[in-house]
Amino acid sequence: MKVIGIDIGGTSIKGMVVDRSGQLLDQGKVATEAKEGKERILGNMKLLLNDLLANHQDIQGIGIGTAGRVNVRTGEIVFATDNLPGWQGSNVKKDVEASYHLPVFVDNDANTALVGEAWLGAGMHVKDLSMLTLGTGVGGANMIGGELYRGAHWNGGEWGHTILVPGGRPCNCGLNGCIEQYLSGTALMKLASEAAGRSYNNGVEVLDDHLKGKPQVTEVLRQFAAHLAVVINNIHVGLNPQAILIGGGLIDSKPIWWPLLLEAMEGMRLNVDVRPAELSNEAGAIGAAKLILDQLKY
Ligand code: BGC
Ligand code: ZN
Repeated sequence: MKVIGIDIGGTSIKGMVVDRSGQLLDQGKVATEAKEGKERILGNMKLLLNDLLANHQDIQGIGIGTAGRVNVRTGEIVFATDNLPGWQGSNVKKDVEASYHLPVFVDNDANTALVGEAWLGAGMHVKDLSMLTLGTGVGGANMIGGELYRGAHWNGGEWGHTILVPGGRPCNCGLNGCIEQYLSGTALMKLASEAAGRSYNNGVEVLDDHLKGKPQVTEVLRQFAAHLAVVINNIHVGLNPQAILIGGGLIDSKPIWWPLLLEAMEGMRLNVDVRPAELSNEAGAIGAAKLILDQLKY
């Protein structure tokens, strides 16, 4: 019994074929090309789905994680930021069901990442669990008593758009000072560029400059760690989960910045169980697969 899990990220769309025990049987990846708009994103995802479906005849369903707030009953994207232009108001579930005649379940990408980590990663056997994903955007999710908490309007746990700096940097969601503008990979690059007076093409270049001892960049990373500690504190105090997981693309460079986070947490006398996610960038697709498996009652 196999399903496909898809994770639509700001940069790439990942797909995985997974069986009910969580074994990864196949995987693929395409560029999102988010700026090209909704039809392109859907088209790219279908290229990936066509590929995976061509190699596996017995797929029973498709789970999809996407940025944005998702009405998981209808599949409608009730809110999306300009990271995915034109996404808001679309119905990915209906579209994919119509194309493939398979059951489809769509949820927010941080929710699917948390489900993935709870199933097979850093959150196994933990019932009260929160997560931050630091990538193109900042995602957030909460599990309470083993169940995802999605809230009354599907934005429960959207930590990325909680406000850190009143009147701060403009966010793609229309507000100012959201944590996404200070803690995402995109923000980190922008902040480092401004501080160092040079442009960076990717996060690796930023971290390189820190390792080379460029003080302005190290200061930006320290600020990043301090801000992350504040957010962790707020989650800890607000929900008191047993563990808070940190995932998303930035976690791949954890050896470089995690010590700064520990330092910042120590400075704030923050004693909470903060864990790096273990499934790296695969958590979202694995969790999406788990959610459709649950729907199908496998
Ligand atoms: C979106 C979230 C999403 C996160 C990570 C944010 O900009 O608002 O819904 O979970 O990015 O992709
Ligand atoms: Zn925002």
